[in-house]
Amino acid sequence: MIAFALHGGAGAKQGRDYSAEIANMRDIAEAARDSLKSGAKAFDVVTEGVRRLEDSGLYVAGRGASPNAADHYELDASLMNGADQTCGSVAALQGFANPVLVARAVMEKTPHVMLAGDGAALFAHEQGFASLADEAEYFTRAGRFESNHPPGTLSHGTVGCVCLDSYGNLAAATSTAGVFGKLAGRVGDTPLIGAGTWADKQTAVSCTGQGEYFIRVNASAQVAFRHAGGQTLTGAADTTLQQIVDMGGEGGLIALNAKGEVVVPFRSQGMKRAWFSGDNPITSEAF
Ligand code: ASP
Repeated sequence: MIAFALHGGAGAKQGRDYSAEIANMRDIAEAARDSLKSGAKAFDVVTEGVRRLEDSGLYVAGRGASPNAADHYELDASLMNGADQTCGSVAALQGFANPVLVARAVMEKTPHVMLAGDGAALFAHEQGFASLADEAEYFTRAGRFESNHPPGTLSHGTVGCVCLDSYGNLAAATSTAGVFGKLAGRVGDTPLIGAGTWADKQTAVSCTGQGEYFIRVNASAQVAFRHAGGQTLTGAADTTLQQIVDMGGEGGLIALNAKGEVVVPFRSQGMKRAWFSGDNPITSEAF
């Protein structure tokens, strides 16, 4: 059994045209299916999926990033391998194209889980990642058409992937430039293992939404622990999102389990997402 889901953020707004994002998400899901059928591992598939989402310039993550309130691009990303719960993360990383690849290097090349700020940038540089010569030139500001958004409102494009491979292993990865108007140094749920990203032997989860709320309920781990405790995947996801809504937050998540069940719920205007399970066709929706 194989399964895969990705999201392009819970900030989708009614009435907007997301056909470019849908086409891009479908391409990436199709490529994920081909890789999984050729024996690729879930951890590699989520890494590649998020890298492609970052590179597309269509989401507020990677190339499409928007700057923070101080006009700096501070990016967050994390990933987790469910097979052994190894994980890596970067927070407030400046100056590099693919935070998800740096997060993976943190996991594979250091004894740590998370590096932040200048230390993360120094590490990325030492690992041979090319620094961006001109950030203002590189970043497309996919969210630039959003106006009048108070600080902390949803950007329209955190990205994430979850995957079950043919060996029965799960993985999750998430990447973002964060919410609009965030203060310098603000870190959301995306790079926090257990809040924005989680994978173990039974469940993989990637979240999107107002990160402060996802942190307060430890959203991604909560979904997994509820499911491990006997709740259905749908029930675990809905209960967790309801807690966020009850606190005044909004957002959504993608999750799948070792049986190949996939859920993609959201409690916001919309959430761009695409998914498949087994040989079923890819489904893609923004609302
Ligand atoms: N969760 C992200 C953050 O708070 C934003 C988003 O998903 O739109 O940084």
